[in-house]
Amino acid sequence: MFTDLFKSKSTPPVPAVQLFNTESGNKQLFTPLSPKAVTLYTCGPTVYDYAHVGNLRAFVFADILKRTLRIHGYEVKHTINLTDFGHLTDDSDAGEDKMMKGLKREGLPVTLTAMRQLSDIYIDAFYNDMDSLRVLPPTTWSRASDYIEAQIRLIETLDQKGYTYETSDGVYFDIQKFPKYGRLGNVDIEKLKSGARVEVNTEKRHPADFAVWKKGLLGWESRFGKGFPGWHIECSAMAMATLGKEIDIHTGGIDHINTHHNAEIAQCECATGKQFVHYWLHSAFLTIDNTKISKSLGNSITFRHLVDRGFSGDEYRYWLLTSHYRSTINFSWEALTAAKQALFRLKRFVYEDYKQLSGTPDATYFTKFKERLADDLDTPGAIALLWELTKDDTLDNKTKCATIHAMDSVLEIGLSDDIETGTKTLGILTSDDIPAEIQALVDQREAARIAHNWLEADNLRTALNLKGYTVEDTPHGPKISKV
Ligand code: AMP
Ligand code: ZN
Repeated sequence: MFTDLFKSKSTPPVPAVQLFNTESGNKQLFTPLSPKAVTLYTCGPTVYDYAHVGNLRAFVFADILKRTLRIHGYEVKHTINLTDFGHLTDDSDAGEDKMMKGLKREGLPVTLTAMRQLSDIYIDAFYNDMDSLRVLPPTTWSRASDYIEAQIRLIETLDQKGYTYETSDGVYFDIQKFPKYGRLGNVDIEKLKSGARVEVNTEKRHPADFAVWKKGLLGWESRFGKGFPGWHIECSAMAMATLGKEIDIHTGGIDHINTHHNAEIAQCECATGKQFVHYWLHSAFLTIDNTKISKSLGNSITFRHLVDRGFSGDEYRYWLLTSHYRSTINFSWEALTAAKQALFRLKRFVYEDYKQLSGTPDATYFTKFKERLADDLDTPGAIALLWELTKDDTLDNKTKCATIHAMDSVLEIGLSDDIETGTKTLGILTSDDIPAEIQALVDQREAARIAHNWLEADNLRTALNLKGYTVEDTPHGPKISKV
C-alpha cells in the first residue's frame, strides 16, 4: 500500500537495496533472479521445545528483510521450515537427536506418531510467538516430515552422481568430491582434518563428511534401509521443492554458517549444477549475561517468560530492532525495560497526541527511512529517524502520524493500530474499565488538588498505587493506568 503511494512521479528515486552477503564478505547491491518475486528461505526452528529469545531474533530479522524488500517494490516468496525430526545437538552428526530429547523429557514413546504430536505442540507455540512479534507468516511453512519423499529423492540423485558413500550407520556426503566445500565462512577443510577430535565414526572418509541418511530402527523406509534423512538434507530438499533450484536469499543464524549451510550448498549444487543461493544473510547471536543461551545453564528465556514479566511482543521487537542484525546483543531485563519505556513514549505520541488517521506521509522522511533500511537493514538508523520525526516542529500531527504509520509497515512495533487498540496497549484505562472504588479515590484526590491540599492528594496517590493503579495529571484531567 505504502509502496504504491511512493511510486508517484514526484517521489525521489527509490534507493537500491544493499545486503551483506556472508559468501562475499561484502555489502552487495541486491539484484533478484527474476523480476516477478524474490525467493527467500529461512532456516526454521527445531520444534522439540519452546523457542528461546535468541531463536526469535533470527525470525524478526527475516521479517524485517522481507518487509524491507516489500517497501522497495518486491514481491517475496518465502519459506520457513519446521524441523520436526533429525536435528542433532551437535551439527556434525554427533550428540543426541533433539526430538528424541523432547520425547524423553515429556515421557512420550519413541514413535513417529508421538514425535508428530510433540512437534504439533511446539509448532503452535512458535506460531503464537510469531503472531505476538508481528512476524508475517511465510508463503510456505515447510514441515520436514511432510517432505520425506523429496529428501529421499535428493539423496538418491547425489548417490547416483557418486557424491555419497554408505557406512554401517548411514549414507554420507563425501566433501572431497566437491572442491568448493566450505566456501561459506572460508572453512579450511585441511585444518578441520588435522584439528578433528578422535573420530567416533571411523568409517567416515573425512571428519567433515556429513550424514544425508541415518540408519535406525525408527524412521521411514528407503533403499538405504530404514531411518531418517540427515538434518542438512531437509533444508536443501525443501528450499528446492518450494522455491526452485536457484534462490535469491537464504537466512539463518551465524551458527549455521560453517556446517549446516556449507552442507546445504554442497548437496544442492552437486545435485543441480546450479548456484543454490545468491545472497547468504546471517543474524548474530543474542547472549544472556554475555553467555551463550543454554538450558543446562538455566538461562533459556522464552517469550512466555517475557510476558510473565509484563513485556509485550512489540516491546521485545522494538528492543531487537535498536541493534543491527549483525551485532551480537546481550539480553538484560534492564535493557528491555528501557525499550518498554521508549516505546511507551512513541505510542503516546501516536495514540494520544497525534491521533490522526487521514494524513499523507512525508515523502522526504519516508525516503530517508527506506534508505536506512536499504543499507543492509539499518534498523537502529531507521528508529533514530522515527524519533527525529517526532521532534520535527515543521510537520503537522497529521503528517507525522501518517509517516509513522508508513514506517511501522516495516518496523511493526504497534504504532499503526487503531486508536482504541493502541490506547489499550498503553495501559491507560477508559472510564468503563475503572472500578468504582478507584474512581472514587481519583475524584477525592482531584478535589484535594483543587483545594491545594497537597498532602491529602499525595496520600490518595499512594492509596491508588497500593491498589495497583497510577494516576497522572494531564491538561485534560487525571489519567489512570494499571501498574
Ligand atoms: P534451532 O531451533 O536451533 O534450529 O534455531 C533456530 C534459529 O535460531 C536458527 O536460525 C539459529 O541460528 C538461531 N539461534 C539459535 N540460538 C541463537 C541465539 N542465541 N541468538 C540468536 N539466534 C540463535
Ligand atoms: Zn536449515
